[in-house]
Amino acid sequence: MSKGRKPFMPQLVYFEPDALEYPLGQTLLEKFKQEDVEIRYTTSHNQVRNLPGENDFQRYRIAKSTLVVGIRKTLKFDTSKPSAEYAIPFATGCMGHCHYCYLQTTMGSKPYIRTYVNVEEILEQAQQYMDERSPEITRFEASCTSDIVGIDHLTHTLKRAIEFFGKSEQGRLRFVTKFHHVDHLLDAEHNGKTRFRFSINADYVIKYFEPGTSRLEDRIEAAAKVAKAGYPLGFIVAPIYLHEGWKEGYKHLFELLHAKLPEDTKHDITFELIQHRFTKPAKRVIQKNYPMTKLELDEEKRRYKWGRYGIGKYIYPKEQETDMKETISNYINEFFPKAKIEYFT
Ligand code: SF4
Repeated sequence: MSKGRKPFMPQLVYFEPDALEYPLGQTLLEKFKQEDVEIRYTTSHNQVRNLPGENDFQRYRIAKSTLVVGIRKTLKFDTSKPSAEYAIPFATGCMGHCHYCYLQTTMGSKPYIRTYVNVEEILEQAQQYMDERSPEITRFEASCTSDIVGIDHLTHTLKRAIEFFGKSEQGRLRFVTKFHHVDHLLDAEHNGKTRFRFSINADYVIKYFEPGTSRLEDRIEAAAKVAKAGYPLGFIVAPIYLHEGWKEGYKHLFELLHAKLPEDTKHDITFELIQHRFTKPAKRVIQKNYPMTKLELDEEKRRYKWGRYGIGKYIYPKEQETDMKETISNYINEFFPKAKIEYFT
């Protein structure tokens, strides 16, 4: 039987020569040689030039299936509110093609995927942040700049991190994914310190705006597996998007989730709710990368909210926002009375 989306395999791989001094760099080189993937070299993961493709449209698509293996030099972590204290940078970029994805704007002209082989240094830095905040708990979000699970079957970096945080007293790890390739993570010694979250949505949103990701049923099946492996489980419903029949669409989502998740996994679930938003720069990039998108990006239908760095975002008008928040919260309370809604934003 078809198992949906295959695990990601890049079409083209670049190595920074220094990355080969790390064991993970060597492992990846061997792996891609065996898979017969085209291999090239680049002086820096920030400056990959000469990507194939005849125009921006083609180059964007090729970049999204290009992996760059490099060294993370900036070890200052960004903050990551509201879900964690810090963003932990294991990778940048994603092979998914979600039309609304904010990586399109944040990564600008570098939409290729980068993985960093100096994992130990990144984890040492995380330890320093934990020590600074001790005895407070410090949470690290591993999916701010990528869908880390989607490439982890190649690198096992996330698995290494899960086990690192599994041993730590004050560290917690969290990440979110739209991919179902989780099997290698099931036996990681997480000790309950990692919250494994899946991004879920109404059928309409997945069908029209999330090409290149795993099917909803596969994500839910993977969620059941990780919960059975003892991971604290969570779901991010994002972006919550108004469309014709949205109330039924989201109701169906929670019904399905309720029906498919094993009963004993339902006691410790978290939900994070994020309404759809866009910025003016994002709108321009989305329309360039996905010119046929049905994504509604009409400023007139939205409410402007001032944002950091002077770039405001367009969210739903107050009345719609309230309706959305109440409707989704009611579904969660109905189907998952023991779950915790962490925030709506
Ligand atoms: Fe962006 Fe996540 Fe979609 Fe990847 S899976 S394109 S990171 S929204």
